[in-house]
Amino acid sequence: MPLSAFSLRARYVFPVSSEPIEHGVVTIEGGRIAAVGTAAPAGCPLDDLGDVALLPGLINAHTHLDLSNFDHPLGEPGIRLVDWIPRLLEHRAKRSESGPDAVVRGLRECLRSGTTALADFAAPNWPRDELDRCPLRVALFQELIAPTFERISPAFEMAERHFRTPPACCWQLGLGPHAPYTVRPELFDAVIDLSARSAAPVAMHLAESAEEIELLATGGGPFREMLETLGAWSPGLVPAPLRPIDYLHKLSAAPRAAVIHGNYLSGAEWAFLAKRRERMGVVYCPRSHAHFGHAAYPLGRMLAAGVNVCLGTDGRASAPDLSLVAELRFAAARHPDVAPATLLELATLAAARALGGAAEFGSLEPDKHADLTAVAVPPTPTADPHDALLHGDGPVGSTWIGGHRCLPSGEQASCPRR
Ligand SMILES: [Zn+2]
Repeated sequence: MPLSAFSLRARYVFPVSSEPIEHGVVTIEGGRIAAVGTAAPAGCPLDDLGDVALLPGLINAHTHLDLSNFDHPLGEPGIRLVDWIPRLLEHRAKRSESGPDAVVRGLRECLRSGTTALADFAAPNWPRDELDRCPLRVALFQELIAPTFERISPAFEMAERHFRTPPACCWQLGLGPHAPYTVRPELFDAVIDLSARSAAPVAMHLAESAEEIELLATGGGPFREMLETLGAWSPGLVPAPLRPIDYLHKLSAAPRAAVIHGNYLSGAEWAFLAKRRERMGVVYCPRSHAHFGHAAYPLGRMLAAGVNVCLGTDGRASAPDLSLVAELRFAAARHPDVAPATLLELATLAAARALGGAAEFGSLEPDKHADLTAVAVPPTPTADPHDALLHGDGPVGSTWIGGHRCLPSGEQASCPRR
């Protein structure tokens, strides 16, 4: 074996693309996976990790890192989104709990909690230089907000600027027209057009609350009242009557699109997404969903319909932390009807598919990037190894990105891909 090769042995190896392997071994060479099996090649250094589950690196398909300084979610559990948004704007205006330092804190927290790739909704002052020091694979979706006419041009200029000076070490750049109620139709159309011209993905919050569905259908209701109070309403912002499908049709013109939340999509809208599952995904954020007390998330039915659903944490203003392992365990408790193997796929291969990285990572298969996460599992045997992972409480141990072991503190000297 070449000197750079090494092997990792774990109590359980979860390739995700195939069955878990008890006492499995993953061999890494040149930053990529060379082999997955039960033995290391002759002469290859072997590191026995002990009682851990070795997974593909976890992929957070949606977060807001600029909100990572929140110690706990805003508002009491069950708060309506229309009541939460004004409180968030108040906090953002103060900048005490958001901003560039929060992004740095969030990146470190993601790394410490076993995330190896993430998609962030980037606020305007996102500290892009930080990517030079961060090994995480970051997809940066520029957040775009223009509920009124005068904000259209500045927002579109920001979208164009986003591509002009791509940061080093950034996995990919995308556009994030925030939501139907914050983006005028003129900007939305221009952004979809720009995404097609730039071969860039798009992500949008859609069908998150019942009040949003009411706004789309009638042009009125609590959402409109909230927007008017904030001075964030303009005639024609939502040319009702509409359904999320009207936005899905437009999003489907982008090279790739992620629908954030999709809590209140209809069966017909699931069918539309299922038909385009290779380039249109839905990001379910289990604990953020629970914070707002939405109707039960129809995860099992969406998966049965063929929708490519993946997991995100959302930001710390609506979730307790940025741990995908915690999201997985929460989802396992909430959705006993969904097979544990399928749940694990939501935070790995399905997320990679949604973000356009499935050929490179998301599962442990030869030639893919050696992005791995080790999570402690109990030493006692279990009939299904997934139970040890999803129904245990073992912490994340180590994380590897491109074969490089990351520091447990989440702080790194440099990006190993530079
Ligand atoms: Zn969000």
